Amino acid sequence: MANRAVFLDRDGTINEEVGYVNHMERFVLLPRVAQAIRLLNQYEWKAVVVTNQSGVARGYFPESLIHEVHQKMQHLLKKEGAHLDGIYYCPHHPEIGVPPYRQKCRCRKPAPGLIEEAVRALGLDCSQSYMVGDRGADIEFGHQIGAKAILVLTGYGKGEWEYFRDQWKVRPDHVAEDLFEAVQWILQQEGRKDNPPPTPL
Ligand SMILES: [Mg+2]
Ligand SMILES: [Zn+2]
Repeated sequence: MANRAVFLDRDGTINEEVGYVNHMERFVLLPRVAQAIRLLNQYEWKAVVVTNQSGVARGYFPESLIHEVHQKMQHLLKKEGAHLDGIYYCPHHPEIGVPPYRQKCRCRKPAPGLIEEAVRALGLDCSQSYMVGDRGADIEFGHQIGAKAILVLTGYGKGEWEYFRDQWKVRPDHVAEDLFEAVQWILQQEGRKDNPPPTPL
């Protein structure tokens, strides 16, 4: 049976949005994120990070920093009994920097490259999956890959929702205060599907 996943944007969804995480110290988990991911682990959803990190192409930090930051992320989560099943990133930018980082790649969201890689590696079914992110682009991306999409109001979320939602091509399936609430909503939706309310006699 195919696995279902919750695809997670990173900056502004899992950790504080600080522009670019160009140093380990700037990676700070948002409140309740570890609990949210632990819930996904418990209910056997694959928790998969998909993140654009064009700071590499822009020359703001070396690609090796992304690995260090992701080790820190896994470590902080592990301390609270949570883990990510996959972490996929794009270090490219189509116009900025020097090759190989400057390229029109297939992995920079909203291109589907990162998701395709995750689907292959983890045996995922996008139609049973969700995308959670703090930007309109994450919502569009979620629908594009055939998943449901949730906007979180952390990171850029509040401003995007307040000032830009009229310009969005697609609506989020849900708007949540933070990742924890997003995960609760997902489990509620799916619980309803698995256990339909009893029909009255
Ligand atoms: Mg983000
Ligand atoms: Zn890329």
